[in-house]
Amino acid sequence: MANVYWIKGRTEDIRRNLISQLDSLMQLEEVKRLVVPNASLAIKFNLSEIGYSHYLPPIIFSTLFEKTRALGAASLLTDGGSLFKGSRFDGYGWADGASMQGFSSGEMFHQQLMPASGYTQEEGNLWPAEGKHLAGIDISSMLTDVSNLIVVCHVTAHPLLGLSGALANLGLGFLTRTGKLKLHAGLKIQHLADRCHECDLCVPFCPTGAVAGEPGKIAFDARTCNSCLGCLFACPNAAIRIQPEGIPDFQEVVVEAAHTVHGKLRGGAFYINFLRSVTPQTDEYPFSDIPFVPDLGIIASDDPVAADWATAQMILRSPGIPGSIAQDLDVLEKGQDKLRAITGQTPEHMLAYAEEMKLGSRTFELLTCS
Ligand code: SF4
Ligand code: SF4
Repeated sequence: MANVYWIKGRTEDIRRNLISQLDSLMQLEEVKRLVVPNASLAIKFNLSEIGYSHYLPPIIFSTLFEKTRALGAASLLTDGGSLFKGSRFDGYGWADGASMQGFSSGEMFHQQLMPASGYTQEEGNLWPAEGKHLAGIDISSMLTDVSNLIVVCHVTAHPLLGLSGALANLGLGFLTRTGKLKLHAGLKIQHLADRCHECDLCVPFCPTGAVAGEPGKIAFDARTCNSCLGCLFACPNAAIRIQPEGIPDFQEVVVEAAHTVHGKLRGGAFYINFLRSVTPQTDEYPFSDIPFVPDLGIIASDDPVAADWATAQMILRSPGIPGSIAQDLDVLEKGQDKLRAITGQTPEHMLAYAEEMKLGSRTFELLTCS
């Protein structure tokens, strides 16, 4: 049975401010094992697309960075880029976006803020994978170079996985562009011409020209679409649809990638899910709606499956926020499945497959930290 730690969202006391909460996590035996003098430690965060405004504040990462450095670990801060042509499409945009969002490489992170697969998004290697789908997957060289990993997730709804948490970050965040394309290959994108206003907002996000044109003259060519999802994230009219048949397999390949990434770690990993500003969109969208549940705190574990299952349960049991999408969808009550209502998905299938692949367990003990 996994230990899952919970730090409550509400704080009414100077002794329980954010810095103290991070201190509590640093005192856990599971974390102490990873923060070791002279051992490299990657702290993974979610670098948001420019326009997404509910991202986790840089103070969380500068605090973790400084605390782990003070204990002698060779810490660095990292995340992957996007497949679509947004602000994180290559390392140059990635670095600019980080700077715009308050992540300053030089001063805050001692120049140790870097894209996981380098400036090209292709620095990595192909490794054999286990499971039903993937023969191998291309993993960022950074992941295989570091000793230990702390994955800090901004929890949100996810249009394909139900939940963006530890597993999504592990399975998608450390792949090269080639690796990510392999995961997306089974997704089929449909352009719904009857819903399309031909506004062209999606066009700049498309890396292949599959959706192209100008206002009033938009064309979609499924043959050149690589299913990067850029147009889905950008479209304000729900004119882009993912064929649902491919979604369970996508959830499974994310798990298989996460399994390979986990297996390539030289040391261990710890997962911190922040249930703070839980929006209906992931940090990959170029906008963010208001959160749909209150800030519920921090869920943390060395078991990514337990962390995500505890996170999903907490969202399920929380009331929704009046005025948010939870009210629009009539799921304000405790116990109503907000993730399914918002995304059409739940993380259950993904987590069950992750259990089958022995990535972790949905059986856990919830321990409250102060
Ligand atoms: S049309 Fe295809 S390749 Fe272009 S943005 Fe949409 S999903 Fe990506
Ligand atoms: S953003 Fe949506 S509505 Fe606008 S052109 Fe693209 S698919 Fe059509």
